[in-house]
Amino acid sequence: MGVTSVVEQLKAELGSPGLVLSEADEVAAYTSDWTRKFSGVAPAVLRPRDTDEVRRCVLACRKLGLALVPQGGNTGLVGGSVPRAGEVVLSLSRLNKIENFDAASATVQVQAGVVLQALHEDLAGRGCVFPVDLGARGSCQIGGMIATNAGGIKVLRYGHMREQVLSLEVVLADGTVMSNLHGLKKNNTGLDLKHVFIGSEGMLGIITRAVLQARPAPEAVQTALLALDTRDRLPELLTMLRERLRGLSSLEIITQDSIALYKEVEPGTREPFDKAYPACVIVEEETGAGENERDGFLERLSGVIESGLAADAVVAESEAQAQAIWRLRDGVTEAISRAGLTHKFDVTVPPGALPGFLTQMERFGDEAGGLRTLLFGHLGDGNVHVNMMQKPELPEDEFLAKGPALAERIYSLVAELKGSISAEHGIGIAKRAYLHHSRTAEEISLMRGMKRLLDPDNILNPGVLFESA
Ligand SMILES: Cc1cc2nc3c(=O)[nH]c(=O)nc-3n(C[C@H](O)[C@H](O)[C@H](O)COP(=O)(O)OP(=O)(O)OC[C@H]3O[C@@H](n4cnc5c(N)ncnc54)[C@H](O)[C@@H]3O)c2cc1C
Repeated sequence: MGVTSVVEQLKAELGSPGLVLSEADEVAAYTSDWTRKFSGVAPAVLRPRDTDEVRRCVLACRKLGLALVPQGGNTGLVGGSVPRAGEVVLSLSRLNKIENFDAASATVQVQAGVVLQALHEDLAGRGCVFPVDLGARGSCQIGGMIATNAGGIKVLRYGHMREQVLSLEVVLADGTVMSNLHGLKKNNTGLDLKHVFIGSEGMLGIITRAVLQARPAPEAVQTALLALDTRDRLPELLTMLRERLRGLSSLEIITQDSIALYKEVEPGTREPFDKAYPACVIVEEETGAGENERDGFLERLSGVIESGLAADAVVAESEAQAQAIWRLRDGVTEAISRAGLTHKFDVTVPPGALPGFLTQMERFGDEAGGLRTLLFGHLGDGNVHVNMMQKPELPEDEFLAKGPALAERIYSLVAELKGSISAEHGIGIAKRAYLHHSRTAEEISLMRGMKRLLDPDNILNPGVLFESA
């Protein structure tokens, strides 16, 4: 079928104005992703406004033999949100209503296209928080976050998306709408099917609605930046912070090379301390309100410094100062994206292995040649974001060619350490060849079976997780 006839047939099936975008410049915005490493072509973008329109889109594609790529905020980092082989993009952006807040259970029902920041803002007005937070908060959508089981900077205290989802509405590949929306925490009635779709990256069903658990807003949040003059004692630092800071909600690490890049990309950015340290750690603790609480935080941190595990600390005295500390963390991610092409590896290793692992990553980067290794991540979860960035002198094709060997080397080490090759970004198409490093043959076979059961014609995000059905 030619592109024109695909579009005409989709329009004939779907009718409603605005549902089918097909002009090249309109479609282009949906066909390449945030990393600029993944892109493809799509004959059309479908933009349903509600669950029934999603169902009609799925049925139309099915009838015409077209595959679909569900797309939320398109901030995914593993290539699963953009077309690869001429699939139609199904954008959930117009399903963007926060539908109902239930104060008694502190639960909120949302459509899949609600942007994370909009949910944060809505709940703040109700004295609550949604406890998942990440750098892409201004664009990523709840449906995409559920489909990737997103983590972020508060997993340590509140868990991933999986821990926040109480129920789901999903449109299946045959057009069935599976909807059982409720805010029950306790519901042991057979298999809890929502878990099949959480983290399924759009290859088992299209999430259209969810009921999520909100939490009471903390009375106060204390934030500090610690300077480390060695990375060798990270496991001890982690142990001590966990023991002393009972309300620990975030623990992020940024190594010196990443801070240096941020300073290059954002001229005017100052070194956070009077000298450059090998690494900095952001610490956030949720406490009660009042002067004593803050004094307690200062005292707990001074104990960490006295122990020699941290060399220096800056403690935020205001919301603005806390935001400035967090800007360093968000700024590093942005700087990496702006500075050049990057091979990204999002992995977990046991905390005890962290110091050696960080050093190994720098060694692997040096040995590969022409790369700049930038490390940061969610220290509290042992989750390291390994970024190997193209140096200007390395031609793009040579840079790209280094990816597979680097991935094999890094993921083999991760498997040896009993870590995970995907801490929070998923598998997408970027990591499907390496799935066996983190999953057994039996697990992979069952996953394939579930795909065949729920999507026998392979029309939902084909190529994600498995190269072939
Ligand atoms: C600056 C930055 C910081 C980030 N930080 C973090 C972080 O700290 N932690 C983290 O976990 N991730 C992080 N990410 C990755 C990304 O933001 C998350 O994976 C996010 O959950 C993706 O949401 P999205 O709406 O953009 O989904 P998309 O990118 O649009 O899609 C991601 C996947 O989900 C599928 N999908 C999307 N919507 C639906 C739906 N409604 N139903 C079914 N399938 C769907 C897509 O097909 C695709 O496979 C970051 C990304 C950026 C750019």
